[in-house]
Amino acid sequence: MKNCLAFLFSLLFIGANAQTTAKKAAETGITRPKLVVGIVIDQMRWDYLYRYYDVFKPTGGFKRFLNDGFSCENTFIPYTPTYTAAGHACVYTGSVPSIHGIMGNGWYDNIHRAEVYCADDSTVQVVGSGNLAAGAMSPRNMLTTTITDELRIASNFQSKVIGISLKDRGAILPAGHSANAAFWYDTKSGNFISSTYYMNVLPEWMQQFNSKKVVDSLYQLNWTPSLAREVYDQYCTDDDKPYEGKPFGTTTSAMPYDLSKYTGQDYGKIFTTPHGNTLLAEAAKTAVTSEHLGKGSATDFLTVSFSSPDAIGHTFGPNSWEQLDDYARLDETIGKFFDFLDATVGKGQWTVFLTADHAVAHVPGFMKENKLPAGTIDDGGLAKYMNQVLKEKFGRDNIITGIYNYQVYLNHPLINSSDLNEKDITRWIVDYTGKLDAVSISFPLSELMATPMNPMLKERFANSYLPSRSGDIQLVLKPGYMDGGPTGTTHGLWNPYDAHIPLLWYGWGIRKGKTNAETYMTDISATVAALLHIQMPNGCVGQVIEDVFK
Ligand SMILES: [Zn+2]
Repeated sequence: MKNCLAFLFSLLFIGANAQTTAKKAAETGITRPKLVVGIVIDQMRWDYLYRYYDVFKPTGGFKRFLNDGFSCENTFIPYTPTYTAAGHACVYTGSVPSIHGIMGNGWYDNIHRAEVYCADDSTVQVVGSGNLAAGAMSPRNMLTTTITDELRIASNFQSKVIGISLKDRGAILPAGHSANAAFWYDTKSGNFISSTYYMNVLPEWMQQFNSKKVVDSLYQLNWTPSLAREVYDQYCTDDDKPYEGKPFGTTTSAMPYDLSKYTGQDYGKIFTTPHGNTLLAEAAKTAVTSEHLGKGSATDFLTVSFSSPDAIGHTFGPNSWEQLDDYARLDETIGKFFDFLDATVGKGQWTVFLTADHAVAHVPGFMKENKLPAGTIDDGGLAKYMNQVLKEKFGRDNIITGIYNYQVYLNHPLINSSDLNEKDITRWIVDYTGKLDAVSISFPLSELMATPMNPMLKERFANSYLPSRSGDIQLVLKPGYMDGGPTGTTHGLWNPYDAHIPLLWYGWGIRKGKTNAETYMTDISATVAALLHIQMPNGCVGQVIEDVFK
């Protein structure tokens, strides 16, 4: 009897103990947001946040980030070249081109002796369009995992990951290798498409979205100024400037622009208008609803990359009416997207970060007009000219394979088989290019560490040195100089105008505030990994930005 009672007591005790443990686990259990949204603005300067601050609306996206979220004010891209594909890869891998392998939008592969586009994959086919070239895409050239891959692994593939953008690279690289889907825009059909890497047929909901031809209704809206005349006068140069591009077949570069003439055709024109952002946001919302993102037991991840700011920025530049108008509208588009997420996923249930794949330089024409140092160089013409001179000196055609990402690639098979002196060729190229107006220094990449240079620059070049995909001689341009023509502008260099990007956080688990400490694009994935209590991507070199967390 005594023994029986003791047994009963011990059972009760074990039961109570188990209950306490379960309660404790529930109290201290790991919590996560239902959905993470990663927004990359293709081409956004950090200073737009404050330059346009008074234009942004309290109900828009940017003020919600700045006033209720966390801003890392001094975030830099820790490598060159600052191009779209490398930027998207860096944000989501926490790594740099020397490790993740995405050297730029394209590069020359020294092993296969061929030009490579970042998302090229000849083993897969287009899904959702007859445009074969637009669909032969996958993330296979990216050598590391992404934070989105790590979420899939950590949840035993229960987390859903979807990437979407007008640009293929803006959808494919962020979504990673193990994504459920990546969708991008086909300029021929006006459809969002995918590839057989992900699926064999578009989901029903995407087919329905495509059949609405939202692009045509957006063309009907034309592009008229959305702000009062005085606002443009306050923030911008005159609307019609000779150094602005004219992408809509007009004789001036002044708003308004007639877009209705493109209805039913020219589906690529949407890129260079703010309506491109609307189109993408509508497709992203449809993805959230139809795929039930944020509704499962595991955290889901949606990556959204807005491509239109890049097209508009390249054409008109940071001081144009068009760019201000685009950002005022983008602010509203993002604000409405947040309202949508509150309504579908739930207030306080989702986390978002916003950054840029790169920023942009002022238009060289604008700089010169204002007596500021700037200029252009034509790297295609430069390679051609140097090949002519090298032929006279060394007796062989095409000694230079090409210039990609401000790096001169030598034709090694030719140099070796013709027994040419590579050292002499390299020395001539370094001497010649080093004296060009646009160039501050040029050096053989194999001698990077021995070349006298600012240590920060050295680190950024080293971060993108991968012998199988890198060139032989690096050209470093003077500040304000770029590869370009008489109109528009570009990005791609180490300078703050290209490498200083916004980094904003908002929502579940995010503290209100800001830091002026230096942070890097590579820190984003490390920070998301810490927020989600999952492993960081397998090539990550970034650090957790602790200040971001509540
Ligand atoms: Zn660009």
